[in-house]
Amino acid sequence: MSLQTDVLIIGAGALGASLAYEMSSITDINITVVDAESGPAFHSSSRNTGVVHRPFYLDPVSKKVYAKSATESYEPWREVTLKANLPWVQRGVMELALNERDIKVIEKYGKWAIQNGMDEKEFSLLDGQGIRNLESRVVATGAILSNLDSNVNYGPMVGFVMGLAENNGVRALWRTKAERIIEADSPTVVCKSADGQVNIKSRLVINVSGGGAYSISRSLGLASEYSELHFRGDYWKIKGFDGVSRNIYTVPRNPGYPFLDPHFIIRPDGETEIGPNAFLVSGPYAYTGTISEILKSIAAASEWKAISMVLDREMLKLVWNDWEMSVSRSLMLRRVRRFIPDLDNKYADARGTSGIRHSLISREGFVPEAVVLGTAGTVHVLNFNSPGATGAPAFARSLLSQLMDFYGVKGTRHNHPVWRSIIENDCDIELKINMAS
Ligand SMILES: Cc1cc2nc3c(=O)[nH]c(=O)nc-3n(C[C@H](O)[C@H](O)[C@H](O)COP(=O)(O)OP(=O)(O)OC[C@H]3O[C@@H](n4cnc5c(N)ncnc54)[C@H](O)[C@@H]3O)c2cc1C
Repeated sequence: MSLQTDVLIIGAGALGASLAYEMSSITDINITVVDAESGPAFHSSSRNTGVVHRPFYLDPVSKKVYAKSATESYEPWREVTLKANLPWVQRGVMELALNERDIKVIEKYGKWAIQNGMDEKEFSLLDGQGIRNLESRVVATGAILSNLDSNVNYGPMVGFVMGLAENNGVRALWRTKAERIIEADSPTVVCKSADGQVNIKSRLVINVSGGGAYSISRSLGLASEYSELHFRGDYWKIKGFDGVSRNIYTVPRNPGYPFLDPHFIIRPDGETEIGPNAFLVSGPYAYTGTISEILKSIAAASEWKAISMVLDREMLKLVWNDWEMSVSRSLMLRRVRRFIPDLDNKYADARGTSGIRHSLISREGFVPEAVVLGTAGTVHVLNFNSPGATGAPAFARSLLSQLMDFYGVKGTRHNHPVWRSIIENDCDIELKINMAS
């Protein structure tokens, strides 16, 4: 079967749904979304910690796109939860300094918060006593308390946005997996669906397929300077442990690998969980797995150019700890007991939902920001990691402004029941499309 469209978006996660909605709100061009699954937000966009983050912990230089996207997307997401009658529970985040080195980090976070556009009234620095006054079961040397971070369920929020896009005329093809793109300048996407092969010809293809994005870009020979590692984040549900009322994070032990430290989080329904860890797995959807899978992932890694990263001794040590934590809930609990000493093993209940992070690696190590690659007829977003769910609306809007410049997508109408502000205001996020030569 063959189809034709003006714009084809691959992936209906937080980013793809935001793009489809925003693009269909301002243009009447033909937009098609394909997703390999039976509906939107099947992967990272619903398998995450569920926090709408404030950007105090994001380096305003090396992570400026994530920081700015988070700042500008906070209100738009709140608007979605109000319109869709979904939970938005503003519990805040307390990020702990566990030693004197960490104190310097939280002081730096205070400066970053202001640089990233946070109001000085929305956060404060606490000492050990200040922490105990607010959270009597939490022990640390100091902390930054950010009040506006909120607990949500991103899955239904993304589903709502995708529904708005479909109301605007976007055609969604579910269970349709993009396998490869033929021709970068005048692209056809070869997809597989239950009915067989579907070839979709499009003036512009936007590849925002999360765990699929890297391999799709590679089908055009792009991203050859990168490789990718997949880290599964596991959670454990906590039962019967009361008395902590905020999300509790810690300053990362190693700033190069900020995703390796578990948090104590409170889901919107009040359920508490600890996690995630970061467990190296063999592929983008390895949600379950055994030690043989780990070995397979290392074997696969030996073919990658970024092997030096995997052989980094410190990285190996940290990742090994996380493998152990994934197998043993008591180890994850022990990690969390460094700051919540009363949380003993009897409170750990069942496993929560795991999510997988897709990390791009270059010769310099982990790539800190999202990478946007382009050809005359395609755009690919890689490495769209945390806090990507928070930042998706503004990131999508910035990408859309670039697409309008580069590819001549014209704004012809206004049909946006939510996110008026984001669509009408100029987002000054410095998003750069790296064009293939
Ligand atoms: C453990 C964990 C915790 C996190 N916690 C937070 C948090 O608290 N707050 C926050 O802001 N961010 C968090 N993040 C990050 C956030 O979840 C992601 O940045 C965001 O969801 C990425 O959205 P996406 O649309 O790019 O990708 P996805 O949500 O992965 O969407 C990609 C879509 O593409 C589809 N797809 C894939 N391959 C193909 C193909 N070949 N053909 C067709 N369709 C395809 C998939 O089915 C999927 O629907 C977390 C991530 C993880 C892993």
